[in-house]
Amino acid sequence: MTDIDQPTAIVTGAARGIGAGVARRLSADGFGVAVLDLDESACADTVKAITDSGGRALAVGVDVSDPEAVASAVRRVADELGAPTVLVNNAGITRDNLLFKMTSDDWDAVMNVHLRGSFLMARATQTYMVDAGWGRIVNLSSVSALGNRGQANYSAAKAGLQGFTKTLAIELGRFGVTANAIAPGFIATDMTKATAERIGVGWQEYQEQRAKEIPVQRVGRPEDIAAAVAFFVSEEASFVSGQVLYVAGGPRT
Ligand code: NAP
Repeated sequence: MTDIDQPTAIVTGAARGIGAGVARRLSADGFGVAVLDLDESACADTVKAITDSGGRALAVGVDVSDPEAVASAVRRVADELGAPTVLVNNAGITRDNLLFKMTSDDWDAVMNVHLRGSFLMARATQTYMVDAGWGRIVNLSSVSALGNRGQANYSAAKAGLQGFTKTLAIELGRFGVTANAIAPGFIATDMTKATAERIGVGWQEYQEQRAKEIPVQRVGRPEDIAAAVAFFVSEEASFVSGQVLYVAGGPRT
């Protein structure tokens, strides 16, 4: 970790799911954590879990696709928690449909949260990282970047995030800032639970079905992704940049 006493990390979409797991892990690893999500009150559980364990956390409500909201959220984090030198772009949505049924709104909504949101958050936070001469950006991609039926919008956004990550690595490396992406496979969260509901399969049964397709024979947990984030933001990972790590229990499941 950097020599700043307790560096500040921002995790977007951290009210629940993978983001909440990442926020808890970064706190356990010594970071002050800004818990960002659409609704500030929804961040309460993550913040409480961190403060109950003796960590520092701040809940901030923000729509990551809104430039003014992003600018003021990042300023608030810097003022109330400390200059953010770690950013985890995790906020995400799905609007799945086969191409012929996908609306322009479904396309735009997914692009706006994943791509525009990650761009706005990275642009707003890089100044603190450059000033500190140290920083870490981790973007959440997905195995869907390799193509997935019903996810033309999501797979394009998640593939786009991989190119975005590599460009950040090239531009920001000279300032001590690394950028990497994590591409999760099936992780048990509300997002995948909603998929089970949409296709009419019980949640337990859906997880069991999916586990059989995964080489390690289990579905992923938010902690699996948090462990990969912990590596990328560590001091030891300072020579690892512009990479995509598939965390999927196998090469692409
Ligand atoms: P999740 O449980 O649905 O949580 C996503 C969080 O992001 C929610 O709290 C959501 O808030 C928030 N969010 C959505 N739009 C936002 C916006 N515009 N501004 C700020 N916050 C916003 O999802 P998850 O499964 O933890 O996924 C986290 C990330 O991992 C996503 O980028 C996802 O694409 C990626 N991923 C997940 C899986 C998986 O299997 N779960 C696999 C590969 C990649 P609301 O609740 O208010 O909507």
